[in-house]
Amino acid sequence: MTDTQTPPLPPDADTDNGTAPTTEGVYRVLARKYRPRRFADLVGQDALVRTLTNAFASGRLAHAYLLCGVRGIGKTTSARIIARALNCIGADGTGTAPTIEPCGACENCRAIADDRHVDVLEMDAASRTGVGDIRELIDGVRYLPTMGRFKVYIIDEVHMLSLPAFNALLKTLEEPPAHVKFIFATTEVRKLPVTVLSRCQRFDLRRLDEELLAAHFATIAEAEGARISAGALALIARAADGSVRDGLSLLDQAIGHGPNDPIDESMVRDMLGLADRIEVFDLFEAIIGGDIAGALDRLGVQYRAGADPVIVVQDLLEICHWLTRLKLTPEAADDPGLPEAERVRGASLAERLSVPEITRCWQILLKGLGEAQTAPAPLPAVEMVLVRLAYASDLPTPADLVRKLDSGSDGTQAPAPARAQPSGPAPTATHPRAAAMAHPAPDPDPDPAPDPAPETAPQGRHSGPAPRSFEAAVRLFAEHGEMILYTHLRDNVHLVRFEPGSIEIRPTSAAPAKLANDLSQCLSRWTGSRWVVAVSGAPGGPTLAERDAAEDTAAKAAAARDPLVREILDAFPGAEITAVRGPRSAEGSTDGDPDR
Ligand SMILES: [Zn+2]
Repeated sequence: MTDTQTPPLPPDADTDNGTAPTTEGVYRVLARKYRPRRFADLVGQDALVRTLTNAFASGRLAHAYLLCGVRGIGKTTSARIIARALNCIGADGTGTAPTIEPCGACENCRAIADDRHVDVLEMDAASRTGVGDIRELIDGVRYLPTMGRFKVYIIDEVHMLSLPAFNALLKTLEEPPAHVKFIFATTEVRKLPVTVLSRCQRFDLRRLDEELLAAHFATIAEAEGARISAGALALIARAADGSVRDGLSLLDQAIGHGPNDPIDESMVRDMLGLADRIEVFDLFEAIIGGDIAGALDRLGVQYRAGADPVIVVQDLLEICHWLTRLKLTPEAADDPGLPEAERVRGASLAERLSVPEITRCWQILLKGLGEAQTAPAPLPAVEMVLVRLAYASDLPTPADLVRKLDSGSDGTQAPAPARAQPSGPAPTATHPRAAAMAHPAPDPDPDPAPDPAPETAPQGRHSGPAPRSFEAAVRLFAEHGEMILYTHLRDNVHLVRFEPGSIEIRPTSAAPAKLANDLSQCLSRWTGSRWVVAVSGAPGGPTLAERDAAEDTAAKAAAARDPLVREILDAFPGAEITAVRGPRSAEGSTDGDPDR
């Protein structure tokens, strides 16, 4: 009911089973002991409580409720509270209508708490999925309730019912007697037939965030007389992953570890198999500093201290995520609620690293996590991940690399493409430059796109200088937007002879009949001089497309032999060489976008 954490939590205020709400006597697990019995005790589900409150106040009660949400979030607990609310007659036994605040003391409330109310029937559809089970359950639907105001049918994991079972249920759902209410709970609402969905008032139970959980657990710990540090509670809340029940089980364990000792972070860390936060940061720094030996050492220490290597990788991923957040919103570090390590170490790391660097760490770790989880022995697998990561951190980011390579081999021509040597097959002796190497998903098409930049003179759009190679001539078609002709010329034409003003070609059968004619006319028009194109019977050379494909393969092979490229391929799992630029970019365009 309360928006802010820590609702009043009278454990067992209504003393079910008559036991005292103390820790004496039979030990009950916390999740059971502190199971909410009133809406007011239901943590974090304000929307549900508000809607139900309004419905109860206005007397508009649905026939069927559907509670959805992840496991351990309080669906069946809520269902039981609703059952109580529907049936409570007040402590003095005079209540005449459902109430949003069941008293917890009347016969109905107590019987429901003890699971012995004759009119509240509960079924777990996970174990009883058949039509017979449903028939048995709703057999008595016609009869009036014996003890309470309503007959309440609670069906947990309702999505598990078989189709015939749903159909049997549907008949009753369509026209339920006035004294019958259904409450369904499910973790997988998408599996429910729409016919059922449409007849229910639906509530989505919210996953509880860590803060709310931590506050809730703090209240319970206090009620239990356990001393537990805020850091320890935060760890439990994080491990609970939104589930009150899971979190309470962990709290149970923590308290069980040392009933009289104060419970601190390191103890919970040991219990959960978590590595110390500071140590994780140390490890991270060793890695990005390229200190492989140090990183492996630290991992070993954590491993011997009981940390699960897979969880160490998860922790490192978490740090990456946190650093990215700090990069984007540095103010996040000002939150005093954060642990020291997160704030101080995080802020300094975020300052040192660039977003691409952090992202690269993230990618390597994420891939490594999958490997570590499936590896027969996780420790060596995680060691390999760290080695890869440390090695990669030495390398420049792809963007840096491309920049470096671009300025490195040709010296000066960084921004403006030199358009000096306009002709001929460019020398292939330059350093094979690999760009666009760090894309895990390779570009499938082998570079069919024309280079839009002109080969010879950028100004030569209308009557530029005559092309001095067949390739240059063909490129003009791309420049002028004649893409169909351009494609035919590249794919379906074998060049027999070329000299400016005169071309001999052998078109393949796939080429259009008037291709030679078009070639001649266009070139004459664009260059302002006459071009004669003859069709020859001679075999000629390979088509431009064939030639490019062969060059591409050769260039990739050459690039793959380059030691620097080798390192990159090793460092970026899944990377492939998708394109090699260089020899061709010297005669054509220079790609100005190193980030591609
Ligand atoms: Zn009551």
